[in-house]
Amino acid sequence: MKTKTLTKITSLLILSLLLFSCTPQTPYLSEEESKTGSQNTSGKFEYYDNGDTSKGVKGNFSPIGVVDDNFLYTTLNTVYSGNCMRYDIRTGTIKNACADPVCTHDSEKCPLYWIGGSIKFASNGIIGIGKTEGFGLQSVTNYCTYNTINNKLCQIYNASVGSSMYESDDYYYFADKLLKKGGDYNNKEDYKNNLIRVRKRDLQSINLGECNDIVAFADKDKIFFYTSTNRIYYTDIDMKNEVELVPPSTVSIGQMSLYGDDLYYSATMRDENGVYYGSTLNKINIITKYNSLIAEKLSEYTLTSNYIYYEPYTNEETGAFRIDEETVEKIPVIIHLTGEIFRCDHNGDEKILIYSNNDNYLGHMLIEGNYIFAWTYIIDRKNEKFTDKILDIACLDIHNKEWWYIKE
Ligand SMILES: [Zn+2]
Repeated sequence: MKTKTLTKITSLLILSLLLFSCTPQTPYLSEEESKTGSQNTSGKFEYYDNGDTSKGVKGNFSPIGVVDDNFLYTTLNTVYSGNCMRYDIRTGTIKNACADPVCTHDSEKCPLYWIGGSIKFASNGIIGIGKTEGFGLQSVTNYCTYNTINNKLCQIYNASVGSSMYESDDYYYFADKLLKKGGDYNNKEDYKNNLIRVRKRDLQSINLGECNDIVAFADKDKIFFYTSTNRIYYTDIDMKNEVELVPPSTVSIGQMSLYGDDLYYSATMRDENGVYYGSTLNKINIITKYNSLIAEKLSEYTLTSNYIYYEPYTNEETGAFRIDEETVEKIPVIIHLTGEIFRCDHNGDEKILIYSNNDNYLGHMLIEGNYIFAWTYIIDRKNEKFTDKILDIACLDIHNKEWWYIKE
């Protein structure tokens, strides 16, 4: 009897879900409302807290920089000085991230002088940086942490060029190329990929052994990897006790992110002719291994603690042209973004359109709270002109739909 009632309720629920999915669950904004184009040029700023954060999310990699505790760290908009800048999301102001009050940030005396585009992570005011010195096989990347609160620079590990740094609660990890025993210093083939673990507490370092898979990120007591065969797995902190999450596949794995016990990953979609038409976004619970499809045909996505933000994929001519410098030929600009940003919950439900503008496209999103940082791709259809501003970072206020460039 009980089972029957339950079945009835379940089927009713499924039916109502099916019905609702035929009509938009949340009313979309009207075309006029959603066309945000309103660039805030007044400089007026009022902070809005939408209760969301990027804290606790692993794997939100954006070429723009990193976010932590209401700050954005970036080196991009000051490319000429190469300094690390810090944008305060609550005040809407940007300053050098160097905490020395008398430093002029224009020489090697400044701990953040000329660190290039290499901010590895930011966590509770501490940022990870890597400065590369020398050339070729002999070059070294000197990984350090810098405390933006007490101005302390701490050397962590010297690695080869092309190495990577990852951060978890108690450890740093480095994917590093090391010369094998008895190997020739000048022979590229004699270098092997290794994974090194450095304990934060005392900087004790251990070589976990050869590792030819790619580290996605490390979180608490796990290290997450993906392989050239598109397999996803994790191990413990000793790189042992491997657990497979996604078996090998011909579908390429893109971006991976983690929040709690849920791993999100994008995978490429191709038609019968092998033509790419965006990515799926999938979620797998790392305990139950329950895998679900969240969305399809995406260009990019960003995970926050409450939401998934994503942009649909398209392959459209914009009506704008690039002029080839050599041939002076007019080349049509094709864009893979629709100019729309959608937001949904962690299950793909409650989908709403939060931004739509096909004159100013926002790409490579980095999100903290109510603010989306992005590169802008501006199409001037009337004059057939296209501008990609990747050295100026735009900030979009999700709540009031205004955007501006963050500048000193
Ligand atoms: Zn300085």
